[in-house]
Amino acid sequence: MNTKKPLRVQWNMIIPASVLLSGVLLAGCGASAEQATTAPTNNTAATTAGNDSSTAQTTGSTSGTASTASNTASTVDPLIQQREDSSLQSTIKKMNGKMVITNPESMTVIVNKKRSLPDGYIPPDLVVPKVAFSYDGVLEKSHMRKEAAGALEKLFAASKKAGLDLRAVSGYRSYKRQVTIYNNNVATKGQAYTDRVSAKPGTSEHQTGLAIDVSGPGIGYGLEQSFGGTAEGKWLAKHAAEYGFVIRYKKGADALTGYTWEPWHIRYIGKDLAQDVTAKNLTLEEYFDEDQIQK
Ligand SMILES: [Zn+2]
Repeated sequence: MNTKKPLRVQWNMIIPASVLLSGVLLAGCGASAEQATTAPTNNTAATTAGNDSSTAQTTGSTSGTASTASNTASTVDPLIQQREDSSLQSTIKKMNGKMVITNPESMTVIVNKKRSLPDGYIPPDLVVPKVAFSYDGVLEKSHMRKEAAGALEKLFAASKKAGLDLRAVSGYRSYKRQVTIYNNNVATKGQAYTDRVSAKPGTSEHQTGLAIDVSGPGIGYGLEQSFGGTAEGKWLAKHAAEYGFVIRYKKGADALTGYTWEPWHIRYIGKDLAQDVTAKNLTLEEYFDEDQIQK
C-alpha cells in the first residue's frame, strides 16, 4: 500500500507527491531513521511568495520578566497558574484505548508519543512566517500558527542581526502527511521497524503548528545533532527563549521526551513560560507535571 496520492491541503495549494515524499522525512519531529523512501526528487516545488530572506521588525527586547519580586502571598504566580491549568494530568483523556489531548489548540499543549492529538486535528490560523527557508516555494511544512510565526520572525530577525543565517526547514506537519509517511514506511521497511523509528500519526509535535525545525549553513541546512555546535545552533540555544521558544528535545532527556537531543527543533510556548522552563532547565514533560509544580 504505497500511498502516493497528493495530500489535500487546507490552503488552496497543491503539493506534488514527489516533493512530499522526498527530502528528509523525520520521525516524530526530526531525525531518526525515517529517511526519505520513495519518489525521486524532481523538484517541481511550487514557487510562491512568502519566502524571502526578509526580516520582521527587530524587537529584540526581552520583556516579560515573570518574577516580579513584589508578589504577595495571596496572589498566585501566573506561571504556576498556567502550569496547573495545562498540566499533563489535567489535559488528557482516554479515548478508544488511546491517550488523547484535550487542549490541542492551547499554546501550552504537550504532545508526545504517549499523548496524541485528536485524530485529524488541524490547527487554526496557520500562516507562512516571513523568514528565510532552506528551500524554495511554499509547502505544507512552511506553515506555523500565527502567534508562533510572529515570534519566529522576531527570532530570525535577531539572528540575522547577529550575522547568522538561520533557515526554517520544517514546520507544520498534517495528520494526513504523518499517515502517508507512516504507511509508506510500513510498506517499504516493515511494521516492526516502522514502529521502532517512526512516530504514530497524531503524535508529532509538528502537527500543533507550534514547532519548527531550523538549521544553518554550517551543516548544509540539515537536521543533525552537529547543528548544536554551529554558530547558529549555539545562538539559538542561548536566545530561543527570549522569543518564546524552547529547545524541545534536550540532551540526555530521551526517557522523558521520547526523543534524543534535537538542537534544531524549537517549540513555541510563549515568552514568559519559555524563559522559565529554560531557566529551570526542564523538559516540558517535567515542567507541566502536576507533581513537580511547587505551589
Ligand atoms: Zn522537529
